[in-house]
Amino acid sequence: MTTQSEGLRACAIVDLDAVRASVATLVARAGNAATMAVVKSDGYGHGMSACARAAVEAGASWLGVAVIEEGLALRAAGFTVPVFAWLTAPGEPLADALAADIDLSASAPWMLAEIAAAARHTGRRARVHLKADTGLGRGGATEADWPSLCDAAAALAAEDLIEVTGVWSHLAFADSPGHPTVRGQIGRFADAVTIAEKTGLRPQVRHLANSAATLVSPDAHFDMVRPGISVYGLSPGPQVGSPAALGLRPAMTLTARLALAKRVPAGSGVSYAHRYTTAVASTLGLVPLGYADGVPRAAGNTAEVLLAGRRRRIAGTVCMDQFVVDVGDDPVQAGDQVILFGPGEHGEPTAQDWADALGTINYEIVTRVGVRVPRVHL
Ligand code: PLP
Repeated sequence: MTTQSEGLRACAIVDLDAVRASVATLVARAGNAATMAVVKSDGYGHGMSACARAAVEAGASWLGVAVIEEGLALRAAGFTVPVFAWLTAPGEPLADALAADIDLSASAPWMLAEIAAAARHTGRRARVHLKADTGLGRGGATEADWPSLCDAAAALAAEDLIEVTGVWSHLAFADSPGHPTVRGQIGRFADAVTIAEKTGLRPQVRHLANSAATLVSPDAHFDMVRPGISVYGLSPGPQVGSPAALGLRPAMTLTARLALAKRVPAGSGVSYAHRYTTAVASTLGLVPLGYADGVPRAAGNTAEVLLAGRRRRIAGTVCMDQFVVDVGDDPVQAGDQVILFGPGEHGEPTAQDWADALGTINYEIVTRVGVRVPRVHL
């Protein structure tokens, strides 16, 4: 526990030195390519501004977010580096984004038309990254639609309404090193860039690589890499490697203080629907975090926490605000520290352990930590 977390019922401690160390690793891996630190979704749950600051200090020269509000929040916090926000729906306040000098993405001519209208309205030339769908099957123009997107962009660039700052795409299987689609997507991305250039566009940054590709697929780096999860010291997937092997340091420790410890007889039902029953007389510890704080309900009888030097499985149903741990005869008391997950250095489970227990990915474990849990930045 730290001084800042004393007196808190629960908190997510975020080690900014770990963020800086992990970003330094990513910047080194990126080589000549620039690094855009992806800080969307409140810095993957770690606190957007504090982590963005740490990332910039460690050498990230761009910041990436999903939605415009996140980009505006970065500008309000004083960040002056280029900010790219890539996900918009029709009718969004694009003029606000242009006024804040936020780069936008376009996957279709109608998106370009909306951006151009905002440029006319504000009198500011929009900075746009054209998105190609090179095989993820999510956003971006298909191979068939790509030439007409480039033509539409060239026409608006000629009117000085937009500047095509970037061409970009996203990988489908980057976390499976050696997967054949990665090579295929790199090739289709290079083709998309060639078509854009033949249309007269001169994008400053071509970018494709997420964390996994930044770490293990140098051919995907182009002019800029776009790592997210690894900024926070987590591995993009077990097949890519452990954080230690990749030179990453997990930044978040989710911790709480026991709200109650009480002795109960053998055969006591625990929590909603009594999905756990004590086998013998036991001490139950009450942890003041629940599914409203991001502890998945499915973690009941499944995930483990560190308490009094030992890992213990959650006993019974996780409730909205609390869950229970059976500590047997171990001497615990209200106020004792419980660690749900952390870097794993002191025997605590990691976010990856929680992900494995719940059949999900570490991204979901850290991003779902709720707004009620204070972030304490060290
Ligand atoms: N780029 C885009 C478009 C994304 O959606 C994401 C994350 O979801 C990233 C980059 C960062 O990916 P990762 O967190 O796997 O590094």
